[in-house]
Amino acid sequence: MAAKVNAGLASRDPEFDFDFVVVGSGFGGSVAAYRLAEKGYRVAVMEMGRRWTPETLPRTSWSLHRWFWRPKLGLRGFFNIRYFRHVTILHGCAVGGGSITYATTLLRPPDKVWQSGSWTGLAAWESEMPRHYEAAGRMLGITENTILGPADHLLRKAANEVGAGATFYRTSVAIFQAAEGEPGGNTFPDPFFGGDGPARTTCIGCGGCMMGCRHGAKNTLDLNYLYLAEKQGTRIFPETKVVDVKPLDGIADGSQGYEVRTVRSTSWFATEARRFTCRGVVFSASALGTLDLLFHLKEKAYLPRISSQLGKHFRTNSESLLAVRIPGSQEDLSKGVAIGSGIYVDEHTHIEAVRYPRGSDTMSMLTTILTGGVPGPARVALWLRNLVAALVRHPFRTLRILQPFGWARENVVLLCMQALESNLEMCWRRPWFWPFHKSLASRGQKVPTYIPRANAFAETFARLTGGTAMSMIPEILFNIPGTAHCLGGCVIAHSREQGVVDHHNRLFGYKNMYVCDGSVVAANLGVNPSLTITALAERAMSFIRPASETDWNDSAESHESAASTNPTH
Ligand SMILES: Cc1cc2nc3c(=O)[nH]c(=O)nc-3n(C[C@H](O)[C@H](O)[C@H](O)COP(=O)(O)OP(=O)(O)OC[C@H]3O[C@@H](n4cnc5c(N)ncnc54)[C@H](O)[C@@H]3O)c2cc1C
Ligand code: SF4
Repeated sequence: MAAKVNAGLASRDPEFDFDFVVVGSGFGGSVAAYRLAEKGYRVAVMEMGRRWTPETLPRTSWSLHRWFWRPKLGLRGFFNIRYFRHVTILHGCAVGGGSITYATTLLRPPDKVWQSGSWTGLAAWESEMPRHYEAAGRMLGITENTILGPADHLLRKAANEVGAGATFYRTSVAIFQAAEGEPGGNTFPDPFFGGDGPARTTCIGCGGCMMGCRHGAKNTLDLNYLYLAEKQGTRIFPETKVVDVKPLDGIADGSQGYEVRTVRSTSWFATEARRFTCRGVVFSASALGTLDLLFHLKEKAYLPRISSQLGKHFRTNSESLLAVRIPGSQEDLSKGVAIGSGIYVDEHTHIEAVRYPRGSDTMSMLTTILTGGVPGPARVALWLRNLVAALVRHPFRTLRILQPFGWARENVVLLCMQALESNLEMCWRRPWFWPFHKSLASRGQKVPTYIPRANAFAETFARLTGGTAMSMIPEILFNIPGTAHCLGGCVIAHSREQGVVDHHNRLFGYKNMYVCDGSVVAANLGVNPSLTITALAERAMSFIRPASETDWNDSAESHESAASTNPTH
C-alpha cells in the first residue's frame, strides 16, 4: 500500500491550523484520519487517552493505574467503566480508542440489520456494504482464529450438550497468527501493508488481548490505520480532550470553518487550554464520548442546529455478561485469544467464550453467583438466599469462587448478545447527587438483564465442567445490564426529524462536519460492532472529495434517494 504523501497541496489554506480535526482515535476516527490524509488533507487527531507501547502496557489488571481510566484519581490507563441508571458501559480510551483493550473479534452482522432502524431504505446497504467490510477487514488484518484454548473446547462441549454444536465457530480476529499448530512469538517485517507498516510478531495465545497486547501480535489501530495516517503527515495529539467546537466568524452553518478548543486530559491543575482552527470536523469520540460532546455543544448554543433526536435510539446490543468459574481447574482457561470461539444457542442468541490473561483477576470483583428469575426485589432475595445456602453447604468452595485470586485461570466469561430491538435514550441533565453541572443520563424502558436461554446455557456449562455459573453484580442487584458494545444516539436517518446524521455521516445543519463512530449505528447488530463501525466510516470517507477538488461545501441532505453517489475510492 504505497503512500502518496500529501497530495492535493492546492487545498491547503494557511489561515487554518488544519483542514480537518478528528475528535477521538478509535475505529471511526482512525479510518477518518487515514482516508482524509490519503486524500491530501492536513489532519489532526485529538485523543483524550494516552499512547501505549508493549513496554508501557500493564502486566495484569492489578496494575490499576495503567489499566483503568480515572485521570483525576491518578489512574491513566486505557479502560473505563461508566455507570448509568439503565446500563453499565465498558469502553476504551487511548490512542487507538477501544482497539487497545478490545478482544479483536470482528464479525459481520446479518443482512437483516439494514432493514431495521432509521437507516432503512437510505442506501442500497446490502450491495454497498460488502466492499467497505472488505476494505475494513484488509486494513484490520482479519483472520480466522487458529488458536483454540481450553475455554473454546469447553464451549464446544457445552454447545453439543444443548444441541447447538453445529453452530460452533472460530472467531474472526484481528491478530497476526502463525499457521495452526506452528509456534508463535516470531517477528516478521510488515506482513500487511507491503512494507509500509511496522514489523509484527505472531500471537502466543496468552489470552491477554483485553489488557493490551505486549507481544506485538494484536492488530490495534496504532499499528494500521493510525500508523499509516501518521506516515501521511497526520498529527496525533494524545492526552488532549476536545471541550468545545464552534463555527468561526459567527457563521452559523460552519461554512467558514471551526474553532476547536482542547485541554490536557491527564493533568490535575494546569489544563493547558489550546485553540485550533480547521475547515472540517469529524466527531469520532465513540457513542458515549460523541454524545457527551454534542449535548454540551448544543446546550452551550455553539452548535444549536444539532437535531433534537440526539441521544435517541441508544442501544446496548442486548447483552448479558455471564461466567463459569471452575475452582481448581486442571487446565489454564486463560490460554488462547481473548475471544476464540462462539455459538448460537438459538436464532437470536449468540454466545462467545471470553478470557482474561492469567493474573488479571480484578474483574472477578464484579461477579457473583448466577440467580435466575424475574429481575427485581424477589430476585435479589433469592440471590441472598442462594448465597447464604451455598456458604452454609459448601463454605470452602463458595469462598473460593468469590475471592479474586486465580479467577482468570479458572474462569470462562460467556458474552451473550441478542439481535433483538431494544432502545434506550440518553439525555443531558443535572444528576440529583451533583446538581452543579449537567451530564449524560439514561432514560426509557430497561433493557432486559435476563436472557433465559443464556442463563440456562451457563448452568449447563457449569454442570458439565464442575464449575459454578456466575453473573455480574449490577445485573442481579440493580437489574442493570453490562455492555462493552454501546451504539447509537446520533443515528443515520432520512432527516433531522428522525436522526442526527445523513447516510454519508454528515451532521444535519452543518457544513463539513461528520460523525464516524458507534453512535451512528441505527440497529442492534447482535455481533461485536467494531467491524461495522470501521466499514461505515470507510463508506462515509469514500464520499469525501480529494483535497485538490474540494469546495468545502459538503452538507447533509434530507430525504436522499437510496442510490449512493460517486465514491472516490
Ligand atoms: C473490554 C472490551 C472488549 C471489547 N471487545 C470487542 C471485540 O472483540 N469486538 C468488537 O467489535 N468490539 C469490542 N469492544 C467494543 C469496541 O471497543 C467498541 O465498539 C469500539 O471501540 C467503538 O469504536 P468507536 O470508533 O465508536 O470509538 P472508540 O474506539 O471507543 O474510540 C473513541 C475514542 O475517543 C476518545 N474521546 C472521547 N471523548 C473525547 C474527547 N472529548 N476528546 C478527545 N478524545 C475523546 C476516547 O478516549 C476514545 O479513545 C470491546 C470493548 C471493550 C471495553
Ligand atoms: S493472545 Fe496474547 S499474544 Fe495473542 S494477540 Fe492476544 S495478547 Fe497478543
